[in-house]
Amino acid sequence: MHIVLATCEVVPFAKTGGLADVCAALPRALSELGHQVAIFMPAFRSALQSGQPLEELGVELAIPIANKTVHGTLLRSRLPESDVPVYLVRQDHYYDRPGLYQENGVDYQDNCERFVFFCRAVMEAARKLRLSVDILHANDWQTGLLPAYLQIEYRSVPPWEHAGAVFTIHNLAYQGRFWHWDMVLTGLDWKYFNWQQMEFYGQLNLMKTGIVFADTITTVSPRYAQEIQSEPLGCGLSEVLKHRRDVLVGILNGVDYRVWDPATDPHLPAHYSAEDLSGKRQCKRALQRELGLPEAELPLVGMIGRLTEQKGFDLAAQVIPHWAQAARTQWAILGTGEAKYHELLQQLARRFPQQLAVRLEFSEPLAHRIEAGADLFLMPSRFEPSGLNQLYSLRYGTIPVVHATGGLADTITEATPQTLLDGTGNGFRFEEYTPQTLTAALERALAWYRDRGSWTRLVQNAMRQDWSWTRSAARYVQVYQETLRRVRQNLETSTAGSES
Ligand code: ADP
Repeated sequence: MHIVLATCEVVPFAKTGGLADVCAALPRALSELGHQVAIFMPAFRSALQSGQPLEELGVELAIPIANKTVHGTLLRSRLPESDVPVYLVRQDHYYDRPGLYQENGVDYQDNCERFVFFCRAVMEAARKLRLSVDILHANDWQTGLLPAYLQIEYRSVPPWEHAGAVFTIHNLAYQGRFWHWDMVLTGLDWKYFNWQQMEFYGQLNLMKTGIVFADTITTVSPRYAQEIQSEPLGCGLSEVLKHRRDVLVGILNGVDYRVWDPATDPHLPAHYSAEDLSGKRQCKRALQRELGLPEAELPLVGMIGRLTEQKGFDLAAQVIPHWAQAARTQWAILGTGEAKYHELLQQLARRFPQQLAVRLEFSEPLAHRIEAGADLFLMPSRFEPSGLNQLYSLRYGTIPVVHATGGLADTITEATPQTLLDGTGNGFRFEEYTPQTLTAALERALAWYRDRGSWTRLVQNAMRQDWSWTRSAARYVQVYQETLRRVRQNLETSTAGSES
């Protein structure tokens, strides 16, 4: 199958979160299964500065945006360790900026225009490059217009005539909502600006557009696929999603073990595996030293993530003083995001310097070292579409403590003597979202931690579980095939209809 995958984030070109990991690992896995994937992304500054080889293709793109024509070009690179081409849509005025979507917490005010340009550029670029396309796979709101352009404007334009559109929701909380006049930028007729298609309470909604026009919608865990069909996790779109539930599928994200494996990870000071855990101890000591924490025998809790309301840092901040005062734990926290969480965490770090180390930055190497050096990994997310960090933690023998929501609920099974025996037990979870239930889950984890024999078995259990992309990629292939079958059947029916 020929797949065009459009996204804003791909490791190592541009990353703010899990989307970037997924959009690198899935194409690699699909390519290994024998499919031809071409990735399209904007040539963001971080991509231009990524150090990856970039070839100027000499393809001129002239894109209509409202009543002007905006020009762009195409660069080509390759996904490391694969044959997968990465086409970067270059338009320096739009994309050569410090952030991908925002700066200092404020969204770029021309975001709608930037991503209208990107979507139109993808449609045009595939035509100019004469790619073959069976499936157009769009990801999140920035690419939500792609399914609409396919269905409305490109059905008779090669190479798009027989393509099916798959739209993946990685996080429904970010919808790309803009004032209604931005509809003019899209170049689509105002007739589509209605409550059943692109309009949402008077605004243009690009996430909704993707959901409405795609042939198939996927999201990144089965549980999240259910959760978004009602409020509050439907974020206002639950009815739209319910309406499309026949073509809504949840597929769990996987892990790229070439990047996330403590036996080979180049960011770690020592390596280890389930068979020989001695290196993990060295990683813990080195992490304590790196972060300026005492090299004590205390359990070390790691947290990494975007500092937004979603990730539950405020809940964690409510329980940390309890644990820090009793001097029963150490904490290693890495994140960037909203100023209020920066302040909250800095205050805690000042109050408990022996217990708490906070790094307010984006650092891939430190993320790896926290995964390896911590004993426990806390993810108290209010909601979590899939979550990757808990899966990385499992492979690094760092036992997750999670709020049982979305992908966290789908992947983490409470450790009990029984689940340890049957191989499923891999962490600790709390159902209700309160400081008390979180504290209780941490208490259970620490009780296990003190029993060194059981703890080692739990760690080994976690490390041996397989959450690789192989299974998830095969599921995407099934979904692509099913989409194509449906689309081609519909196209045949409509051609037969118009001929008779
Ligand atoms: P989300 O996509 O909602 O941000 P995920 O758990 O799916 O959450 O993926 C988060 C990814 O981003 C992980 O690879 C994580 O290590 C990484 N990450 C988040 N914040 C940081 C940070 N400050 N430094 C390094 N990596 C980070």
